[in-house]
Amino acid sequence: MPMKTHDVTIIGGGIVGICSALSLQDRGISVRLIDKDDPGQATSYGNAGVISPWSIIPHSTPGFWKTIPKLMLTGWRPLSVRLTSLANMIPWGLKFLYNGTEENTRNIANAMSLLCSPSIELYSKHLNGTGHEGLVKNTAYLQLVRHAKDATLDDLKFQIRLQKGAKIEIIKGSELRALEPALSSKFEAGIVTYDVARSLSPGRLSAVLAMKAKAQGAEIIKDQILEIHRDVETWILKGQISNYKTKSLVISSGAWSRDLLSNLDVTVPLMTERGYHIHCSDPEIEVKNSVVFPEGGVIASLMEGGVRVAGQAEFGPIEAPLDPKRKSILSAIAIEMFPDISLRKTKFWMGHRPSFPDSIPVIGSVPNQPNLFVNFGHSHHGLMMAPKSGEVLANILTHNLGNEDTSSVSIMRFLN
Ligand SMILES: Cc1cc2nc3c(=O)[nH]c(=O)nc-3n(C[C@H](O)[C@H](O)[C@H](O)COP(=O)(O)OP(=O)(O)OC[C@H]3O[C@@H](n4cnc5c(N)ncnc54)[C@H](O)[C@@H]3O)c2cc1C
Repeated sequence: MPMKTHDVTIIGGGIVGICSALSLQDRGISVRLIDKDDPGQATSYGNAGVISPWSIIPHSTPGFWKTIPKLMLTGWRPLSVRLTSLANMIPWGLKFLYNGTEENTRNIANAMSLLCSPSIELYSKHLNGTGHEGLVKNTAYLQLVRHAKDATLDDLKFQIRLQKGAKIEIIKGSELRALEPALSSKFEAGIVTYDVARSLSPGRLSAVLAMKAKAQGAEIIKDQILEIHRDVETWILKGQISNYKTKSLVISSGAWSRDLLSNLDVTVPLMTERGYHIHCSDPEIEVKNSVVFPEGGVIASLMEGGVRVAGQAEFGPIEAPLDPKRKSILSAIAIEMFPDISLRKTKFWMGHRPSFPDSIPVIGSVPNQPNLFVNFGHSHHGLMMAPKSGEVLANILTHNLGNEDTSSVSIMRFLN
């Protein structure tokens, strides 16, 4: 079969690739999207659904290093590293810790804000006319605090958000119960961020937007790309089922992107930060907001088909099997948060966050690789960053950036 040439081919149909396709189509560009599975059914399927203009604080903040032993060794162990990933983890971890100064935290927050702040409006634009506009719902983001005396907004994380205009308050006792009636009485206070949204089904959101791209003319192909190389003016993609030719190529394959790029001798410090969820389809309680339990490293929320408790961070090889112990850990956390929750019908899932040490993705062109673009590395924030990341990519690809400074998301920061 002769290879068709498209303007742009995107490898990876997660939420980032799908939003990139929509933004490119908005600019009149013909798009082909290739995924080894159905679009949006990998990491973008199982996340916690938070879409927040205010999730702009990187994980490495001043003093974070002091909490690492506790996170790894005690309680629900929300952080772990598989031994087989230790060799890659050490240089990554040093870069991560280096970012934990106040100055770096503020700079990274600015970069994250560029990608997070328009997320709710852009989703409503993308969903408009699909008949599924209700898939993104306004909500509050409630961070639980066990002891009322520990509830404070003095922390740098809240100070940065407040300085940027977030509406955040501390609530206690009856106010907390009114906001989240099924919550355990063990929690005396909560920190509420308003003007946040959540997806009622991240997997269906991706599928609906992929269908929209298809209806607008995108070619969606199920194939696994094994190798990429350049042939004079075009990129050739060798797939498991077929080969493809394209003028411009976007690598947007989430945690799998590093291996595709290394094929071209481009090396980036991307780690696979695995995360888990349990989805309780008959929970017998209601959860009204995105409820964060920092001790357990999870977020609970009511989605289509039940309550989902999602999170935790396990650095490990992309191909390693899931850790079955995480299911009982997440179940115990669910009961700690909501003592009356029923876990009779519970599904267990694991996904792969693509994480850089500075919590910022790479978006844009790749030096010395004509017409090669990247859009990956969205770590804990890919659902909320995807729409604006698609816009930035499409603006760079069409040379239409205007005054927008995108140097903070350039791949150049990792290449010497
Ligand atoms: C437990 C958990 C909770 C989370 N909660 C949130 C949240 O509340 N809010 C938020 O914003 N983010 C959250 N995230 C992060 C978010 O889910 C990710 O950042 C986001 O899904 C990344 O999207 P992506 O498109 O880059 O990757 P993916 O969704 O992983 O998509 C990559 C795609 O590339 C395809 N692919 C890979 N290699 C190839 C190949 N060689 N050929 C063809 N196709 C290929 C894969 O099949 C896949 O579909 C969470 C993540 C986890 C794990």
